[in-house]
Amino acid sequence: MDFAFSDREELLRKSVREWAEQELPPRMEEMEETGEFPMDLMPAMGRMGFCGVITPKQYGGTEMGNLARILVLEELGTVCPAIPMAMQVHHMCTYALVTNGSEAQKEKYLPPLVKGETMGVVAVTDPSGGSDVAGMQTSAEKKGDTWILNGRKCFITNSHHSDIWVVIAKTGEGRKGLSAFIVEKDFPGAVLGRKEHKVGLRGANTGEMAFQDCEVPAENLLGEEGAGMGVALSDITNCGRPGMTAVGLGILNAVLKEAAKFANERTLYGKPIARLQSIQNHLAEIYQDRELARLAAYRVGWMLDQGMRVDTESALAKSFACEAAARSARKAIELHGSYGIMNEYAVQRLLRDAIVTIPAGGTAEIAKLVMSRAALAAAS
Ligand SMILES: Cc1cc2nc3c(=O)[nH]c(=O)nc-3n(C[C@H](O)[C@H](O)[C@H](O)COP(=O)(O)OP(=O)(O)OC[C@H]3O[C@@H](n4cnc5c(N)ncnc54)[C@H](O)[C@@H]3O)c2cc1C
Repeated sequence: MDFAFSDREELLRKSVREWAEQELPPRMEEMEETGEFPMDLMPAMGRMGFCGVITPKQYGGTEMGNLARILVLEELGTVCPAIPMAMQVHHMCTYALVTNGSEAQKEKYLPPLVKGETMGVVAVTDPSGGSDVAGMQTSAEKKGDTWILNGRKCFITNSHHSDIWVVIAKTGEGRKGLSAFIVEKDFPGAVLGRKEHKVGLRGANTGEMAFQDCEVPAENLLGEEGAGMGVALSDITNCGRPGMTAVGLGILNAVLKEAAKFANERTLYGKPIARLQSIQNHLAEIYQDRELARLAAYRVGWMLDQGMRVDTESALAKSFACEAAARSARKAIELHGSYGIMNEYAVQRLLRDAIVTIPAGGTAEIAKLVMSRAALAAAS
C-alpha cells in the first residue's frame, strides 16, 4: 500500500493551488452577489487541463485520471467551492460522452468541452423524478429520423452556460425505459427556464431547462436505446459522487484553515483562544473530519484509476465528506463566536456551501441505501 503522491500529482496540486489563489478570490464577491459562474475563466481552465483531466488525449484531454481529478477539484474548492461544483458536472458530461459516445459524437462534442469553450450539462433530475430516477416524466418519442423530447429538468448545474446537454428521458417502461441524448442548446424546442437562487455554492449556476417538442436527430442518441438508466447511474457513481466528495473536501480544507487562523488570532483572558481546551477540541474534530474525508476521496480516485468498481466507496466518500463539511463548518462558526455569522468571515459562506453539497449527486439517504447493500453482504 502506497499513500504517497507521484511527482506529477504533487506538481499538479501546486499549479492548481497557485492558479486558484491568484485568479479566484477577486471574483468571489461578484459570484456571491450575482449567482453567476465566471465563464470568462473557462478557456484558462481549459488550457490548464482542468476541463479535460479525465478525457483521453485523442480528444484534447490531458487524461491524467481520477485521482488527479480529485486533486484539481479539491484545490479549486479550497479557494472557491462553487468552481469545482460547476467543473465536476462539466466532467460528468465529458465522462458520459467518453464512456457511451460513438466516435463521431466524441469527435464533435468533446473538444469544445475540453477547451472550455462551453460547459457541460448532465440533466437527470426532473420535478417528478429526483431520487426516483425512473419516475421522471421527461419523455422522448421517435418520429422517423428524429427523437421528440418533451418535459422539464430542474436543479441542473451549468444549465445557462452550456451548449451541450446530456439529457436522460423516458423512452419506454421498466428498467430499460430510459435513454440518453445529446441535446444542443440551439436545437428547436430546447428552452432555458428559470435560474435558481441557492443559499450556497452561489457561483455555480443551477437552473431549469424545458423541452417543447424538442427535435433531436437520431444520431444524437447517446448509447443504446433503453440504456439511459445505466448512463445516469454510472455517471453519478464514477464521476458525480467522487466529484462532490472533492467539493466537500475543498470546503473542509477552507474550514480548517479559517478556524485555525481565528483561534490563533482571537485573544481572550490575555491569550489566544487556541489555548482553550474546548477550542482545541473543535479544531481536532474538524481536522479529523478533513483527514478522513481525504482518505475516502483519494481511495475512490485511486480505485477508479485501477479500473475497480466504486459503488459503495463513492457513496460512502460523498456522504461522509459533504456531511463532514457541514458539521465542521458549523463548529467553525461556533468557534468564531458572533464573528462567525458576519458576512466578512468566510465560515458562514462555507456552511452555506456545505449544505448545498448534501443533495447534489444524490442525497445522504440514497447513499445509505447503497452502503446498506455492502453492510448486509458482510453477513455472508
Ligand atoms: C447544487 C445542486 C446541483 C445539482 N445538479 C444537478 C445536475 O447537474 N443534474 C441533475 O440531474 N440533478 C442535479 N441536482 C439534483 C439532485 O441530484 C437532486 O436534487 C437529488 O437527486 C434529490 O432529488 P430531489 O431534490 O428531487 O429530492 P427527493 O428525491 O424528492 O427527496 C426528498 C427526500 O426524500 C428522501 N428519499 C428519497 N428517496 C428515498 C428512499 N428511497 N429512501 C429514503 N429516503 C429517500 C431524500 O433523501 C430526501 O431527503 C442538483 C442538486 C443540487 C442541490
